[in-house]
Amino acid sequence: MKITFLGTGTSTGIPTIGVNRESCFSDDPKDNRLRSSILIECDNKNFVVDCGPDFRQQMLRTKITRVDAILFTHEHADHTAGLDDVRPISFKHGKIPIYAHTRVVKNLKKRFDYLFDKKNDYPGSPHVYPIIIENKKFNIEEIEILPITYMHHKLQVFGFRIKNFAYVTDLKMITKEELNKLKNLDVLILNSLRHNEHYSHINLTQAIDHIEELKPKKAFLTHIAPDMGLHSETEKILPKSVFLAFDGLEIIVDD
Ligand SMILES: [Zn+2]
Ligand SMILES: [Zn+2]
Repeated sequence: MKITFLGTGTSTGIPTIGVNRESCFSDDPKDNRLRSSILIECDNKNFVVDCGPDFRQQMLRTKITRVDAILFTHEHADHTAGLDDVRPISFKHGKIPIYAHTRVVKNLKKRFDYLFDKKNDYPGSPHVYPIIIENKKFNIEEIEILPITYMHHKLQVFGFRIKNFAYVTDLKMITKEELNKLKNLDVLILNSLRHNEHYSHINLTQAIDHIEELKPKKAFLTHIAPDMGLHSETEKILPKSVFLAFDGLEIIVDD
């Protein structure tokens, strides 16, 4: 299984409009962060987790031309606003299933009503269809996916585990029971917004606490805000086997 970080930035991306942090003016490409999303290549299938406003750019720069499914963590714009840009992919390869919580599907139907309007079936719309998921295992063909549910301030969010890999973003609070689903991982990707406390995201210390409890072989931090500082500086203070992700980073997870 191969994972590619399509974006590793918080909702505003880095650089952020009008923000005067060092990371926003850095020449290091690792400090340029599009909105958070990953590509999972598994059993000859391409899945993306989330489809934010940078989706088009992310597909072009990674040269991905086919997406077999989209999994949504939650409905916030930084995770869903690029849905219309799946058009050329769906024209070429057919309808794309979108896997999401029933609340998220409802929200997308409101915001992208023309996508789901069967009566006025406009051929130029992206061809997608929803598959509602609950907090229990589901399969995309042969691939088993275990959702993890947690809170992002007052909003429920899904993370996803496939085999010994898991992607968890926009986490603030998680129950012990759900956290236990993240044990025995080779690779955990976890959000870590910045150094200071935040009401809807865990910060660096809280992310490291979870990682120390869960003990994945490797952990990568994502959904990073400009105030995390420079990539090169932050990497220096991380524990062994914890890394700051960056856009374009590819990791192989053994099956
Ligand atoms: Zn987000
Ligand atoms: Zn969010």
